[in-house]
This record gives sequence, C-alpha cells and structure tokens, in this order.
Amino acid sequence: CGIVGYIGYREAYPIVIKGLKRLEYRGYDSAGVMIYDGESIKLSKTKGKVADLEERASKEITTNGTIGIGHTRWATHGVPNDVNSHPHLSNSGDLVIIHNGIIENYAPLKVELIKRGYVFHSDTDTEVLVNLIEEVQKKENIKLGKAVQIALNQVVGAYAIAVFDKKNPDEIVAARLGSPLAIGIGEGEYFIASDASPFIEYTSNAVYLEDGEMAVIRLHKEMKVRKIKDDSLVNPIIQELQM
Ligand code: GLU
Repeated sequence: CGIVGYIGYREAYPIVIKGLKRLEYRGYDSAGVMIYDGESIKLSKTKGKVADLEERASKEITTNGTIGIGHTRWATHGVPNDVNSHPHLSNSGDLVIIHNGIIENYAPLKVELIKRGYVFHSDTDTEVLVNLIEEVQKKENIKLGKAVQIALNQVVGAYAIAVFDKKNPDEIVAARLGSPLAIGIGEGEYFIASDASPFIEYTSNAVYLEDGEMAVIRLHKEMKVRKIKDDSLVNPIIQELQM
C-alpha cells in the first residue's frame, strides 16, 4: 500500500503513475488516481495492478492537470473491488482522500454521519473519514487544514492521508500517524509519498513527517507543519536526500 501526491506546474498524471509503480514493492490489491484539471476532479480506480489502472485511466482521465494524488490499496475494510479502491470522494464531491492504514472507530462515526444524512458508497473506513472531515468543515465553516486536524482528533487508528478540496484547489493536506509519509520540496512544486522513491528524481529536499504531524502544502507558499493533537506549529527538518 502506498500514496503519492503532486502539486506544482508539471503534468501530475505521469508523476503519480510512475510513483505508484515505485511503491509497488509495498504490496497492494487495487490502485487509483485523481487528477484536478483546474475545473473538475477526474477519478479513475480499479481492482488490480497499476498497469490495470493505467489502461483504465487512459480512457477515464482525458484532461491534464497539475494536481494529482494516487493510491495503492491493501484492503482492510471492504473487499478489494473498484468501488472500495481509493481515492474516495466526500458526499459533496468536493473532498478527495487517499489513505493508508485503519480507522478503528469508523463504525460509530459512520452511524453518526448516516444520522446526519450522509450516504456511503463503499465499505471502507476511509470513506467515513473523508465525510467526517466534510462534516467538520461544514459545521465550523473552516478551511481544509483545520477541518482535517479536528476530524483526526476524533479518530482512533493509524493513517497516512492526503486530502484535496476542490473549493480551495491550490493545496493538499497530508497527515500521518503510524504510517510513513515523506514530502518532497521543489521550486514551485511539492511531492507527497509513502517514501522518497517517487520524487527523488525531481528534488533532493524532503521532510519526513513525524507521527502525529500534519502538513498544509500550498502552492507558492511555505509548507506549514503542525501537531495534530494541539494544532501547534512544528519547525520541519528538511533533509538532503542522496541521489
Ligand atoms: N483501510 C483502508 C481500506 O481498507 C486503507 C487500506 C490501505 O492501507 O491501503 O481501504
């Protein structure tokens, strides 16, 4: 299981696909990709290998975009099939998430969200998390980063996530607890991945998020890293990768 993300000026699709291939060694049963083309969210996902995803995505993703996320899934909640594959959308269709790990308390959270009118299309714990983030964001009328932080404090489990919000499409929010997450820092571009292999050819500067940290990665802005628990700012250590 692995995650890849890109936000910058290059075409995101080939970076994400190539990155997923580099993460194939981690094992997986399904794969998916989301590309934002400046107007809408393009999604393609499938049970099977990254090669199967490529075949499918070549028909489903026909526009270019400079923001993208991709996922290889190792199913924990819900069988490996196309619908349960990531990325997952929130009910409004604005939020997109990829997630490695397990949301252990997804069942009571899901019951609560269903009471509030949310509908679920997959059997995953991940779809519960993306709708929880959406519910928090709506209720508090806040930006994605703050909503992710509040939502994650209601979650028990392990995760590496990347979340995109179509309403604010110049940023990706990433967070980790118990699953690895590296952020590559380029000039006018950022990369997100389970390890540095998907982005080592583009940049040698990386920040490895520590457990319990989240990052708001905004185009043309300095990345902000915070502690999920209390929202306090962290000074991220930028490491020089050996090419
Ligand atoms: N728990 C999530 C699922 O079953 C993510 C699994 C993973 O780490 O790939 O969809």
